Amino acid sequence: MSIETLIEQATIPPESGFVPSNPFDADSFDEAVMSTYARFPLALERGAGCRVWDTQGREYLDFVAGIATCTLGHAHPAMVEAVTRQISKLHHVSNLYYIPEQGELAQWLIQHSCADRVFFCNSGAEANEAAIKLARKYAHTVLDIEKPIIITANASFHGRTLATITATAQPKYQKYFDPLVPGFHYVPYNDINAVEEAISELDEGDYRVAAILIEPLQGEGGVRPGDVAYFQKLREICDETGILLIFDEVQVGMGRSGKLWGYEHLGVEPDIFTSAKGLGGGIPIGAMMSKKFCDVFQPGEHASTFGGNPFVCGVALSVCQTLERENLLQNVEARGEQLRSGLRAIAAKYPNYISEVRGWGLINGMELQADVALTAPEIVKAAIDRGLLLVPAGPKVVRFVPPLIITEKEVDMALQAVEQAIATITA
Ligand SMILES: *Cc1c(COP(=O)(O)O)cnc(C)c1O
Repeated sequence: MSIETLIEQATIPPESGFVPSNPFDADSFDEAVMSTYARFPLALERGAGCRVWDTQGREYLDFVAGIATCTLGHAHPAMVEAVTRQISKLHHVSNLYYIPEQGELAQWLIQHSCADRVFFCNSGAEANEAAIKLARKYAHTVLDIEKPIIITANASFHGRTLATITATAQPKYQKYFDPLVPGFHYVPYNDINAVEEAISELDEGDYRVAAILIEPLQGEGGVRPGDVAYFQKLREICDETGILLIFDEVQVGMGRSGKLWGYEHLGVEPDIFTSAKGLGGGIPIGAMMSKKFCDVFQPGEHASTFGGNPFVCGVALSVCQTLERENLLQNVEARGEQLRSGLRAIAAKYPNYISEVRGWGLINGMELQADVALTAPEIVKAAIDRGLLLVPAGPKVVRFVPPLIITEKEVDMALQAVEQAIATITA
């Protein structure tokens, strides 16, 4: 089935029976829900393919995809089928018992990556927590390090739990939450000398570097791809020293980069890697996968009540199989190239405002010139006014992470909206 046919099947135009619940009361929402997000003033209540509709029936082209999460867009027939099937069959039982769907999803992941074993949880942060715990136990029991240190990169993003905000080397996420978790050290991204220096400086007394936790492409930190030479050298260092190389593939993995895993762009394989966002196409699931170091955890040492339940695994498996069956990686590469060349053409018209367009597959960033006042949130707001959903990655980078089923026509529509938004703001 072609992607266009899939979209048509999934697309239920609002005029065919969808009655917007208009109006939406944002004040009552804000009185009930903690203000952890600065929300845009719109409420979405329906989606189909790469379109979403708000409570007033207004249509938007979705280049956010729940932040790089809705792999198959909205209301995809394969997901509707899997959700319906699994909820009426069995949705949750404890990991005290064998869960066949969990085993099948793990096998799919192992067959399609360098992983030998999988642990399931519910989010990216939780997957990274599991990786951090595994690395620490490995350090204590195998590397014989009393006080293991994990190196992470400046401008990284690894989640919002205490350990993962500590791993996230961005002060804005850590402010007010100290004391942070000990055992982390930060280095600049894509700078091999800094890593080498840190490893030798941190080898003192009971302290030693046990692991390097890093994104193959930094997502939240501004859509910055890793350097091939840097990552290859990291792999060499880890091979020589026994330090674990852990990749956070939560945003870039699961086909978003045009390859199934970000590390395939870098020509190196990690010892451990994590996935979440795109893995379940929008149902909450996380996974921590390891190559070799599979038997570090013993029964009772790590767990998650919801992790890997029949519902999420049944649905995630159908997302994975659809990605494969529909050859979506090819679409990701083609649409990504189309998007980047379109954005570069816009950048060429506005060289005083746009400094760079970069990315892999369908994770792309448009960076704004540092010396102009224009910010990414301003562009995002102007795009929303033109019916296009975008998300910033930091103050100066606009991020483009549409569903992987996005069509050529929809990429063209998005490019038009971006150009109009920039023309209006800069006029
Ligand atoms: C989003 C993200 C996380 C955190 O995932 P949650 O599911 O929000 O906990 C971790 N790492 C990266 C690279 C991410 O993009």
